[in-house]
Amino acid sequence: MKNFLYGRASSTRAAVDFLSNRKNAFFLAGGTNLLDHLKLGVEYAEVLLDIEDLPERELTDLEEGGLRLGALALNSEVAADARVKSNFPMLAEAILSGASPQLRNMATIGGNLLQRTRCSFFRDIHAPCNKRNPGSGCAALEGAHRNHAILGTSEDCFATHPSDMDVALAALDAVLVIRGVTGERRLPLESFYLLPGDTPWRETALAHGEMITAVELPPPFFVHSIYLKVRERASFEFALAAAAVALEVREGMILAARVALGGVGTVPWRAREAERLLVGAFATPEAFEVAAEAELAAALPHRDNFFKVELARRTLVRALSEVAEKWGGFE
Ligand SMILES: Cc1cc2nc3c(=O)[nH]c(=O)nc-3n(C[C@H](O)[C@H](O)[C@H](O)COP(=O)(O)OP(=O)(O)OC[C@H]3O[C@@H](n4cnc5c(N)ncnc54)[C@H](O)[C@@H]3O)c2cc1C
Repeated sequence: MKNFLYGRASSTRAAVDFLSNRKNAFFLAGGTNLLDHLKLGVEYAEVLLDIEDLPERELTDLEEGGLRLGALALNSEVAADARVKSNFPMLAEAILSGASPQLRNMATIGGNLLQRTRCSFFRDIHAPCNKRNPGSGCAALEGAHRNHAILGTSEDCFATHPSDMDVALAALDAVLVIRGVTGERRLPLESFYLLPGDTPWRETALAHGEMITAVELPPPFFVHSIYLKVRERASFEFALAAAAVALEVREGMILAARVALGGVGTVPWRAREAERLLVGAFATPEAFEVAAEAELAAALPHRDNFFKVELARRTLVRALSEVAEKWGGFE
């Protein structure tokens, strides 16, 4: 048993000031990821500052249909919110596809954004892992890596980003509101996650002590969207491949597209190449194949996860087709 100090934050400002000045100190939200890591020895804490009592839990309307999600809102609360279900259905679908009802009742928006990879070597403190122990090597290269990433990988790390929610947020152009000692800043989710490169232990642009206080969703430009998750079993399982897709279609032509992939990237993967090819194309199976093929051209699979290239391609084509069906079918 390793001792640590436990405290409850009474204000956001005080919490940020307190944590910024302490090493080995963490915000504790739902605890569903952090407490596992403390027990496994993946993280070491001298102080846990519980932020559950802070007011950052509301869901607030923004102008023209945008929505602000307080970082302490529970995953279950967000998925059940009527505005989320009607304006951002892919977000509700993504959240509900993850974990279990009990976990979603504990897990928060901020904690979900900062959950760490499920790579078994990252979670095994006896294995070499560049993410957990910089410079120690990557046991996944020779070991089991069927679930590992094929996009955004590096020689040092190809651990998959595990979240479903964050994939939908990537497609929705979400912006994070971050509070630090010098004030508040806003950061697009796409700039928040860092590719592993040769510093895989640096996963996000968050500085020590900074707190995510909210996630802002711009007004939706689309009416039809989907989150499609493919996994080994129907529930309580992480994605092998997933696609978050929103399309705006007029008279068969795609006017706007937002696409992100999950289960295959080292970060929630915004599929910019697919989007580029989709916009201006007619919504046809051929156009969807071309877009998916182009996005996956950048994939770098390893020995046991070659299948993910084809799986991700098919998942994306199916997601695009299902959204096209909602628009009235193919041209
Ligand atoms: C068995 C199991 C199955 C799961 N399956 C899925 C799945 O299929 N799909 C999926 O997407 N997820 C899945 N998850 C992950 C789950 O969604 C995360 O554990 C959860 O979202 C983390 O949220 P939390 O509030 O509990 O975070 P915590 O564990 O409290 O915190 C996680 C990290 O975030 C930091 N943190 C928390 N809030 C803030 C904040 N506001 N600002 C700054 N730092 C903060 C903490 O310090 C910590 O480092 C699963 C988890 C388990 C245990």
